[in-house]
Amino acid sequence: MQQRIEQVQRKLQDTGLDGILVTTPENRRYLSGFTGTSGFVLITREEGYLITDFRYVEQAREQAPYLEIVQHGQDFYGDLAKLLQELEVRTLAFEEEHVTYRQYRKLRDKLDVALEPVREWIEQLRLVKSEAEIARLKKAVKIADEGFSHIVGYIAVGKTELDISLELEFYMRKQGASGAAFDIIIASGPRGALPHGVASDKTIQKGELVVMDFGAVYAGYHSDITRTVNIGRLGEKQREIYDIVLEAQQAAIEAVKPGVTGAEVDQVARDIIKDKGYGDNFGHGLGHGVGLAIHEGPRLAPGADTVLKPGMVVTVEPGIYIPGWGGVRIEDIVLVTGDGCEVLTASTKELLVL
Ligand code: ZN
Ligand code: ZN
Repeated sequence: MQQRIEQVQRKLQDTGLDGILVTTPENRRYLSGFTGTSGFVLITREEGYLITDFRYVEQAREQAPYLEIVQHGQDFYGDLAKLLQELEVRTLAFEEEHVTYRQYRKLRDKLDVALEPVREWIEQLRLVKSEAEIARLKKAVKIADEGFSHIVGYIAVGKTELDISLELEFYMRKQGASGAAFDIIIASGPRGALPHGVASDKTIQKGELVVMDFGAVYAGYHSDITRTVNIGRLGEKQREIYDIVLEAQQAAIEAVKPGVTGAEVDQVARDIIKDKGYGDNFGHGLGHGVGLAIHEGPRLAPGADTVLKPGMVVTVEPGIYIPGWGGVRIEDIVLVTGDGCEVLTASTKELLVL
């Protein structure tokens, strides 16, 4: 935590700014350890503060020992103005991708500082995970794997997609997840053509493919897994599409190593799907970073120029979506290592016929 704050302070020095007000919840947590839902981290060249209200002061003292805790009253911007004046902060960076226009106007009107919009300062630090972060991610992945093992015994003809998503979330929470990582996607039959087909009241039918995309949150860290299963009767085309997606996914995983860009890894999967004639049916990026946020850097997608480094954690999730027919997606989480990658997801990728 101390090291993270120092990295931000170095950035302030490099850019000639006096301080940064961090408002993005994941960034606030990353720099402070504070899990409350209201608070602001202020880093100056010499110090770090966590500014929060009466409800969270005790919790903040406990969770954020590296920061000085400041309690603000009803007039947050007035109190911030006073603090900045005391600290002789004259130029203040703010996170342009998070601050709303209203907040910006308040900052502009109430503070006696020059405001400087910045982006991805903290997100850049979050790209490479520490050992402690990787341990939390692994636990989140393990809970999702357990969720998959459980749910394949539950899915059956006649259950609705919502039944499955509720059972899955309940089970993952029982295994220690603080929640589902996002609205669980259960997309059966033709709904599988919707890459983000959140569970509906549709009933599962015999012979359908079911795309299940879900994850767990553990100690703030997210997992993300997709498996596609068949219910009771496997068709030839289902097998064919599944095998193409699996081949693309495995080849892309093979390509994940330090020194390659996100675009290069994406291209490996995209080429395979294109060669088989389904290029137009894979309309999204191959994957994304995952950590305190479900979607973060680095991206694996056309045009993504971030070079992969050991400690980065990304999803690899190609898919083929055919309107009116359905879809297949397979998603794992991988950790970039010194010479390749480690697949963290353990669930089988054999096409299960349930
Ligand atoms: Zn997913
Ligand atoms: Zn994903």
